[in-house]
Amino acid sequence: MPALTFENISKKFGDNTVIDAFSAEIHDGEFLVLLGPSGCGKSTLLRMIAGLSDITSGDLLFDGSVANDWEPKQRGVAFVFQTYALYPHMTVRENIAFPLIMDAFRKWYHLPIVNIVARHRLMKRADIAERTLSIARQLELEPLLDRRPASLSGGQRQRVALARALVRNPALYLLDEPLSNLDAKLRTQMRSEISALHHKVGKTFVYVTHDQVEAMTMATRIIVMNKGIVQQVDTPDEIYDRPANTFVARFVGSPP
Ligand code: ADP
Ligand code: MG
Repeated sequence: MPALTFENISKKFGDNTVIDAFSAEIHDGEFLVLLGPSGCGKSTLLRMIAGLSDITSGDLLFDGSVANDWEPKQRGVAFVFQTYALYPHMTVRENIAFPLIMDAFRKWYHLPIVNIVARHRLMKRADIAERTLSIARQLELEPLLDRRPASLSGGQRQRVALARALVRNPALYLLDEPLSNLDAKLRTQMRSEISALHHKVGKTFVYVTHDQVEAMTMATRIIVMNKGIVQQVDTPDEIYDRPANTFVARFVGSPP
């Protein structure tokens, strides 16, 4: 069963159709890249997966169940944005632990939200500290745990954002152009780190980018889109060697 299924999904902002009859499947455990030019609807699609944006028509399925109306919290997704959105007043340790602390807090103060309690393994203080440390080690952040975001480099900050996404052990990772604010050298390095992370955690990743090279080097499969419409869904090799149309050929730079 696919992890995610898009069935004829459309999204309108007023009269403006930004996603148009979008159908595709994302497989369990794959590294799926959503590739397309700026403004083609990639972020909108990712926000719909996360439950942060309504679907105008069509169905979005999680593991075969229609999830159009599920609350964001019910979906078990982690979202990493282009801007790192760290809490400036908190240390790295606190930033990473924050989702777990929030879960524990909800357990005591919002008991009626049973979904959250059912969804996340709730943790005690010591477990939170241990989990935070283990994630920090995985991403080589242990020496920085007591620093604040302002004193970190761009790459270090993005790594903290990744650690924070990882800490809850989500089933699905959504990454929206997470490397676009980094310089070229760091971007290359972080590409390998994110790929390694995918191998390590073995979960489904949906990675948005407008960068062909990023898509080609990281993806198990790519969905190429343009103007809210799926152009091709295939492996990087197939897309490069056998582009479905002239848009895809030009965009990925296939030889004529
Ligand atoms: P991408 O991430 O591929 O650059 P987006 O999903 O951000 O593209 O945007 C797709 C289109 O939807 C753009 O034309 C954008 O202006 C429009 N759009 C995105 N969010 C909104 C919004 N909240 N209200 C109106 N239009 C929006
Ligand atoms: Mg975007």
